[in-house]
Amino acid sequence: MIHSVVDQPATGSPVADFLPAYISPSAAKSYLGCSLRFYFERVACIKKPTTVALHLGKAVHEALQGFHLARWRGTDDSPVAVAEMFDTAFTRLETVEGPVKFKDETERLESRQSGLRVVAAYLDSDEVPKEKPRAVEVPLNEKIPGLPVPLNGAVDLVEHDYTPVDYKSSATKANPDQAAFDHEIQLVSYQLLLEAAIGITPKSLDLVYLVKTKTPSIQRVSLKPASKVRKDRVVGLLNTAVDGIVAERFHPSPGMHCSWCQFRNECMRWKPEKR
Ligand code: SF4
Repeated sequence: MIHSVVDQPATGSPVADFLPAYISPSAAKSYLGCSLRFYFERVACIKKPTTVALHLGKAVHEALQGFHLARWRGTDDSPVAVAEMFDTAFTRLETVEGPVKFKDETERLESRQSGLRVVAAYLDSDEVPKEKPRAVEVPLNEKIPGLPVPLNGAVDLVEHDYTPVDYKSSATKANPDQAAFDHEIQLVSYQLLLEAAIGITPKSLDLVYLVKTKTPSIQRVSLKPASKVRKDRVVGLLNTAVDGIVAERFHPSPGMHCSWCQFRNECMRWKPEKR
């Protein structure tokens, strides 16, 4: 969260002159993707209606989190209980984080049904942990050599063999090579965090895709743990984000990602500042 970046006692400029409290892989990825969109979202905190895909992804994520926690605690993890968890999250998030950009009630109901189907597909899949997880949604905050601020992240699930797993909702099946490339900062950050926290290098770094097609499917993408070279590359990327945030380097980075950016009007009003 950007609060990690801006909630610091400042002298002079509200952002410059001090380091953030920590950097998270999601903040770094967002900054490196487009620093100006990062600014609108996480510094200026401009609120936009939640997209349907984001809303559905969050509700599915909460249902899976509830399921894994129930499995970890030994409480009710039946499909009925998990469907209820999804429904509760779907409704609550509309109020707490909405409004959601549903075209009409039909789209809302279809979205809810799609979520229930994909959650049921996961529970029915081979990707459900067979053994009790080590941790669920575990927040980690660790000092990493080469980083000027702690690294902060919450791993969706740490499996019994210490494999960190991140869950992604997706409209289509993932290309494994592309997925590995796209999520390198996040997955290698989890490895760095686990190594720093418990001194264990996981055997694998995994993504589990919940593919929301009409007949949903579940797809696991496994990456080898990072070598020192890859870890150095990720620490370098995290450092680039910290440096840019501290120096207030926020500028447009036009590209394909602009087609789904909600800040295009604000972006068009951007002017370079004289420094
Ligand atoms: S429209 Fe493109 S360049 Fe502008 S803020 Fe959004 S992602 Fe960045």
